[in-house]
Amino acid sequence: MTVSSTPTSPPKRHDTKGPLTCCPRCHKAELLGRAMRRPVFRYDKVDAAERPSFYDMFHGDQHVGTLTRRGSSGSSTYDVRVMSDTGDVELMAGSLRDARALAEETYTAQWREGAYTARGPVREL
Ligand SMILES: [Zn+2]
Repeated sequence: MTVSSTPTSPPKRHDTKGPLTCCPRCHKAELLGRAMRRPVFRYDKVDAAERPSFYDMFHGDQHVGTLTRRGSSGSSTYDVRVMSDTGDVELMAGSLRDARALAEETYTAQWREGAYTARGPVREL
């Protein structure tokens, strides 16, 4: 029995919805694609009467983090939580703007390394 010498692999149906778990080629291609893009996030503000207000952070349909405001106005800080496959990352920021930047950078770094298999909206760099 001889092994085919054609350089291309036999026809295979690739999982375009979950390229990270399909095969090494799809995994590599997906990471290369992610390196040239940034996730697009969406925030939902949640106002709760007896709890500090917080923001839910989404990438597509996936809930990926929360930003929780601490303290009264003027001296407030934000607790940043980014969910990941390997455990949540907890950070702190001095303003909502910093909190968002921190959460986005943290998520994006892990996303580029192949975390988060679900596909969300992205934009070209
Ligand atoms: Zn594949």
